[in-house]
Amino acid sequence: MGRFFQMLVFCLQFMATSAVFSQTYDDPAIKATAAEIHAAAFTLDTHADVPTYMVSHPRFDIAKEHDARATDSRVDFPRMKQGGMDAMFFAVYLGQGARTKAGNADAKRRAKVLFDTIHKAIADHPEWAGVATTPEEAYSLEKEGKRAIFIGVENGWAIGDELSLLKTYYDWGARYMTLSHTRNNDICDSSNDPKGPEHHGLSTFGKEVVKEMNRLGMLVDISHTSDETFWDCLELSKAPIVASHSSARALYNHPRNLSDEMIKALAAKGGVIQMNMYSGYLRAENPKRVAAMAALRKKYPRINELTDAERKERQAELQEIYKQYPNRLATLQQVVDHIDHIVELVGVDHVGIGADLDGGGGVRGMYDVSEAGNLTYELVKRGYSEEDIKKIWSGNFFRVMKEAQRVANTLN
Ligand SMILES: [Zn+2]
Repeated sequence: MGRFFQMLVFCLQFMATSAVFSQTYDDPAIKATAAEIHAAAFTLDTHADVPTYMVSHPRFDIAKEHDARATDSRVDFPRMKQGGMDAMFFAVYLGQGARTKAGNADAKRRAKVLFDTIHKAIADHPEWAGVATTPEEAYSLEKEGKRAIFIGVENGWAIGDELSLLKTYYDWGARYMTLSHTRNNDICDSSNDPKGPEHHGLSTFGKEVVKEMNRLGMLVDISHTSDETFWDCLELSKAPIVASHSSARALYNHPRNLSDEMIKALAAKGGVIQMNMYSGYLRAENPKRVAAMAALRKKYPRINELTDAERKERQAELQEIYKQYPNRLATLQQVVDHIDHIVELVGVDHVGIGADLDGGGGVRGMYDVSEAGNLTYELVKRGYSEEDIKKIWSGNFFRVMKEAQRVANTLN
């Protein structure tokens, strides 16, 4: 490669990188409009793993402000206030364990610990927040200057094979349940189980679960479930269904995301898809990095059988790949690209935010909850109206919650 050409490539690379770095949120005109809309909108994020963070960090004080980079905590009450975040769903999350009698008992015990942790964190700080189970309760907490905390159960394994536990969890505040996590369970197939489908959608028990959730007014959440499960739920559920933290497969082909066909069908039945901010679901990794990693695996196929010298060599090559192709976080612009796509596909009434903070979510531009205002900035910048932004931030999801309650009333 000639010297001149090398310089040119370098300059182009530099420009591309600095275009990313130059993404700021300080254009005075946009900033003023965005700040006004952000304050006027009721902001809701429908998926955060704060309870899991709290359980694994027993000294964590949710009423104190934390440094996101030093602690890797992405949510606390002071930062919710800074970010103008009025309400969040805290997840009672369980990674899938054994589907045995003992396993199910353990799931039930762990779910209770998470519920208790949420209720205690709020009870300890009534000046900061309250538990909400309806949009109306959330609005009145906001009027009192407090944050509203909703609860969602992530992984239907939390009920094991006991249908009656749905009512128990409903009474403890849960208003949605994500039917599975990354493995199949007794309710349905997951999007990511390496074993593939087991029930081909909802199991017989899973169908009873959806019916009971409809009766209670608990939202059916299909994030993490397989496509077949999605279609079964859509057909069976009498209330609209939700994806509490998923994105668009058209922008990044991942089984955790929804295809255009699925998004259209979800919207046709009044549902909503809430944008995840986990980088691994938003965009493909740099193909050069993927190729370099594949080449490395080919060069050293059996890691356990390497000599010390080979191991050292491989390690050096691995570090070089990391250096050359750093795995940088996705950007807030990429999140809004997903929103744009869904709005083009089905209009503005079926999309919202479920950032998965403390569960791997957080992008450049919204690394933690304190930066939530940047999302409104980006939406204003792209020409979304105040009315649209209010729908995206909570109007759409609250519409579905109210509809689920209305349906429940007709079933009781
Ligand atoms: Zn999740």
